[in-house]
Amino acid sequence: MSRVHLVNPSTKSFGVAVITPRWLYVLAAATGSRWGDPQIVDETLEPLDLETISSGDVVGIGIHTGNALRGYEIGNQIRARGAWVVFGGIHATLFPDEATSLGGAHAVVRGDGDVIWPQVVADCFAAKPRPVYDGGRIAGEQFVSARWDLLPDRRYMWASVQTLRGCPKHCSFCSVWRTDGQEPRQRSVDRVVREVVELRRRGFRFIALADDNFYPVTFADLANARRRTDPAPLRELDALRQERFDLMARLAELPDDMVFYTQITMEAAEDPAFLDAMKRARILGALVGVESVTNEGLKDVYKGFNLAGDELVARLRAFRRHGIHVLGSFIFGLNSDTKDTFDATVALAERADLTFAQFVLLTPFPGTVDFDKWAADENRRGTTVDGVPITQHWLIPESRRPRLYAAHPTMSLEEIRVGTQRAWDRFYSWRQVWARSRVVESVRARIAFVLISKLYRQMYANTGIATDSARVQRSTRWARWIGHACRRLFLGDPMPDLTLPGEALEPAINEG
Ligand code: SF4
Repeated sequence: MSRVHLVNPSTKSFGVAVITPRWLYVLAAATGSRWGDPQIVDETLEPLDLETISSGDVVGIGIHTGNALRGYEIGNQIRARGAWVVFGGIHATLFPDEATSLGGAHAVVRGDGDVIWPQVVADCFAAKPRPVYDGGRIAGEQFVSARWDLLPDRRYMWASVQTLRGCPKHCSFCSVWRTDGQEPRQRSVDRVVREVVELRRRGFRFIALADDNFYPVTFADLANARRRTDPAPLRELDALRQERFDLMARLAELPDDMVFYTQITMEAAEDPAFLDAMKRARILGALVGVESVTNEGLKDVYKGFNLAGDELVARLRAFRRHGIHVLGSFIFGLNSDTKDTFDATVALAERADLTFAQFVLLTPFPGTVDFDKWAADENRRGTTVDGVPITQHWLIPESRRPRLYAAHPTMSLEEIRVGTQRAWDRFYSWRQVWARSRVVESVRARIAFVLISKLYRQMYANTGIATDSARVQRSTRWARWIGHACRRLFLGDPMPDLTLPGEALEPAINEG
């Protein structure tokens, strides 16, 4: 019988991975039971074995800009085997024609796949796929719960559950607000909690709340709504905010060995009640996009709602005072950056008590305002690498891809790359990491902290920024080794009898 496969492409396989790629398990649930259980392949664990795919099978490949080229490679190989090839994900949403011409797609799904996917599969099995399907932006109550029963045993350290999609902001380097929309689409508290309970039953203690922005309503939004004569917007915002508190109150009732992590804007530091609720819910970590430590840098990325200098330190420290650890994300290569920016940023990260930090190179990703401006430049359109226009940089083979894409007014590109590498090296030196590991108490937790810090650096810094292939290969080997060691520290014993807060034991079901 023909089967459905779902593939997450990657050129690097580590054997274990930090976070479950949620979309694989959501689409597995959306597939339903009519065609049997889908076969799930996450290439960050191990590469796809083409022999498992037969003529007539349906293969869904999800791509973002970073893994699109690998996705196209396997799309063509799969099509040559006579299977139906369907692309989805952010990159395919932006460039459906590219997935067809370069990836061998029979069909491309744009937007959310949750609801439309079974139709796509049925059309493929009927040999009548449409070239493009528009999944649109579905409402929060239509988000499908994942099929966690299909997870391979003990390969991931963290599971992922989504509580909302969309972000009201409009940062210039980010495509989320354009693809997922600026209107937050929130899922019901019951559905989120049900999934979390199922994951804890299976032994996951650490869960990433894979939201675009966990703090969708700010004080400024409420103040603006209060000034309007129509009371409806204020009622809506109040309801959205209250649902966040309801969710956190339910999470707080779960076993106390659980830890959650999310993404949030720095504005949440304005709201002590929200931070306290996060702490009670054990949302103990948050990725905060700091981006730049100067006002000029924030203007460069349309992030005027962030703060700079001492005020920035105070805001970031507010998270720590409430028991929430911050992974601060910084961008290097902004026009306003100077040679001093790298050290100044690391110094600020240390002063602000950040528990983790990431330093990324400014990259014009399609779907963003930055990309549109960058790609519109005449000269750039004529620049090629191995015959590929630089304005389609994701199609350049990974080893030949530039690390930076635009000349800087005061620094050479190599100075920026080396400065960024130095920032990673300084922030994640053994001495600094060991000193920061004091944030946890037991020896086991300190070891876990050190390992995860080193793993993070190996996976993201050396493999993403280094140009020396020996360094990249060494990092991949290290990451595999640390990943295996870390896994045991994060997973807990399964709790098959765990009940939903306020309910008697019942089997976990996928209610969509
Ligand atoms: S970077 Fe964060 S805050 Fe800015 S638009 Fe993207 S998701 Fe929203």
